[in-house]
This record gives sequence, structure tokens and C-alpha cells, in this order.
Amino acid sequence: MHLYHLFLTLGILVCLGSCFAPQALDQPASPQEESKDVQLQFRDVSQNLDYRCGPRWGKCPGGTCCSSAGFCGSTKAHCRSPDCMIDYGMCDAHRLPKGPPTRDIPRPLIGKVPYGPQEIRTCTEPGTVALTFDDGPTRYTGDLLDLLDKYEAPATFFITGVNNGKGQIDDMALPWAPLIERMMLSGHQIGSHTWSHEDLSKVTPVQRTEQLEKNEAALRNIIGSFPTYMRPPYSSCVAHSGCREDLGKMGYHIVLYDIDTDDYKNDDPGLIQHSKDIFDKALSFGDALTKSWLVIGHDAHEQTVHNLTEHMLQTIRRLGYRPVTVGDCLGDPRENWYRKDSRWPGHAGKKKPKKGPKKSQPTQQVSVDGTCGANYTCLGSPFGLCCGSFHTCGNTTLHCGAGCLKDAGYCTIEAPRNGDAWDPSFPSRSGKSEADSDLRNVGTAAVTSLLLALIAAMWM
Ligand SMILES: [Zn+2]
Repeated sequence: MHLYHLFLTLGILVCLGSCFAPQALDQPASPQEESKDVQLQFRDVSQNLDYRCGPRWGKCPGGTCCSSAGFCGSTKAHCRSPDCMIDYGMCDAHRLPKGPPTRDIPRPLIGKVPYGPQEIRTCTEPGTVALTFDDGPTRYTGDLLDLLDKYEAPATFFITGVNNGKGQIDDMALPWAPLIERMMLSGHQIGSHTWSHEDLSKVTPVQRTEQLEKNEAALRNIIGSFPTYMRPPYSSCVAHSGCREDLGKMGYHIVLYDIDTDDYKNDDPGLIQHSKDIFDKALSFGDALTKSWLVIGHDAHEQTVHNLTEHMLQTIRRLGYRPVTVGDCLGDPRENWYRKDSRWPGHAGKKKPKKGPKKSQPTQQVSVDGTCGANYTCLGSPFGLCCGSFHTCGNTTLHCGAGCLKDAGYCTIEAPRNGDAWDPSFPSRSGKSEADSDLRNVGTAAVTSLLLALIAAMWM
């Protein structure tokens, strides 16, 4: 009885593993079946995860995306940049921000800070430390802004427009634009980290220009201007590719760093001490009277935001340094950090405070004691920008997040769980990106059926 049940279960499992596993494309088929199959693949390619693409196979048909694993499809996992292969199908990288392109906006090389092809690796103002965060905004960025507020520490954010399936930063239904506005209002600096985080040394000159221009338009749609500072994804902008010259012609400062916290390798409570040690060791050389530092981190990582950054801020204070933005650590006046797009009409659909008193409603006044509500707004008050559900002003997630009163200040929207991002050069600690998941399912089914068949054979 026991043995009978075992074989019955094994039989069902073997069938589950093999009967439903998608058929491999290179399996032999009769000529008639073959031509029918080819037609089916083209007609229904979005459903066909076995349709191959990439350098060996070519482009995906039908406007579908080519995943990093080389499969065509239309799911988020196939289309998310930068994993999605931009030369072999559609990708998030091909999305367009709204509004006019920024190409024709004049780009004079203002200020004394060098532009491309020169790269900037160090700060120049003694006693300053410029903390920089790449790849955001992500679901952790709000917490990071809270922390920087707590320490009154300006920082620099190198922003990516559409990476890791988070949607476009200028999609006003998503939480990213309010976070970027908050960065500006809180005195941080915004730089560009390109539209979809492609390797600028490996793409064509046209794609390179698009990577910058699309991010410019998206940022313009949020803050009315776009940055003169940028950091190349993967810090990759090699001389022979023409990348550095191209960025210089577009009016960009190319910013690298002299302290790499390696935070993307240490995003674990048991490992993040390595990043703290790197930072402390670097700052122990020289002193705040003569030295300055340019630090790279990523607000895509939980441990960077919830652990490493506070440690860095405490070390900066303890050793007598000042946390500043990249522009400030280079002595560059704030008006040089951005190029304005005078065509920007402001947010469509966003209420602008009307000038002059209204007839039916009393005019809202700026909060004078930290309280807010119907008649008092936090905007312009020294207590913080957001009016929390408990009618007090502040800049924390408690004030700006759920329950925030939109009519009495500024509010963020809660970030979705899928808004995570990480540096794709080290695609997550598990070594798998979401783009691999479909392939993994197919593989798992095949492996399961094989294993079960082996076990069954051993019992026989
Ligand atoms: Zn990056």
C-alpha cells in the first residue's frame, strides 16, 4: 500500500514536471508542423517565452523585448532596463518622457569646474565630504531624505530615469517625482545617472546622446531644469569610445569618486561593516583642514540607507568635516548646477497657489508655530514641508507619507514594493535578476521532472 502510493505520487509529479514544461524550440518536428510553429511564434510571440534573441539569434519580432537571458517577451521581466537588450527588441530604455526634447537648449560651459572629456574624481574645498547616491530614487530614498534632514546634511543624488522596472521618474502616478522635488526643496543636488543605466562605453553615440537627453526631459518635467553634473553608470566612460568628449559637448561634468564604499557588495547586516571600515579608513588619512572627499554609495540598497549612511555622517562630524553636495565641494555656485527649460509649464493638474485672497475661502497662511491644517500650510515654514495627519509640520516619512495633508503642504506617495533598484553590474546578492525568472521556471520544471524520474528508476 505504502509503495503503491509512492509510485502514484511520483507518477503525478513526473507528469507535472514534464507534461507542462514548454517545448524547446530546437526539438525535432515534422516539416508541416515546423512551418505551422514558425507562424505561431510570430503571431503569438509575447506568449512564447522560448523565442530566442540576442547576438546569436537576432531581434525579437512584434515589438517584444529581449531579456538578458536572450528570450523574447512582453513582461516586465523581459523589458526592464538595463538588463533588457536594447539592440535586439523593445526595452524600457526606448520609452520617451513627455514634452519637447531638450536638444536645442543652449549649453554654455558655465563656471570653473572642468567639463568632459575631463573626469572629476576629487573635491577641492578643504574640510568637505560629498556623499553621493546613485541609481535612485527607490523605495528607500524617502528614509534617506529623513536621515539627511536629521543631520542637516546636503548630499547628491545621481538619478536614473527608468531602471529596474520602476517606471518613469516623470510618471506623476508613481512616487518618484515627489521624492525628486523633495531633494530639491531640502537643498540636495540632483545629477544625471542616465535614462536607463546603459554602459555608455558600449552603446552607439546616438544611443549615448539619447541616454542623457531622455533623462534631461524627464527631470525637466519634474523640476523645470536638468543637471550639468552626471555620473556614468558602472563609472564607465572610456576614452577610446568617444564617451567623454560626447558628454563634454553636451555640457556635462563627469563625476567619479575617491572613496568607493562597496555598499552594493555589502548589502547585508553582517557585511555592511566592511563598507563602514572602508569609509573610516579613508577619512583617517589627512585631516579636515586640508583634505576633502567624494564618496559613492547607492540609495538602492537597504543597508546603505538604514545603516551605513548614519555611520558615515557621524564619522564626518567626529573628524570635523562638513557634509556637502558635489557642487559645493568643488566650489561651484548653485546656479551652475542646472540648465533651465523655460518652456516648462509646471505640473499639469497640480494646483498652484493663487495670488490674492479668494472670495469664498480664507487665504492660507504659512505656519508660525509648527501646526498646520485648513488655514495654515507648512510650505515656506521653518518646521518642515509636510503636514502630517496629526496637523504638525515636518520632513519625516510620518509627516510626508500616508495620511499627509496635501492641501496644507507637500506630500510624498508611498513607494511600491517593486520599486527596488540595484547596481546591475552586481545583479543582487542571489545572483539572479527578475529578468531571469521566466527562464528559471522553465529550467526548474525540467530539472524537477528529471530528478523525480531518477528517484522512481532507483525504486524500481
Ligand atoms: Zn548605477
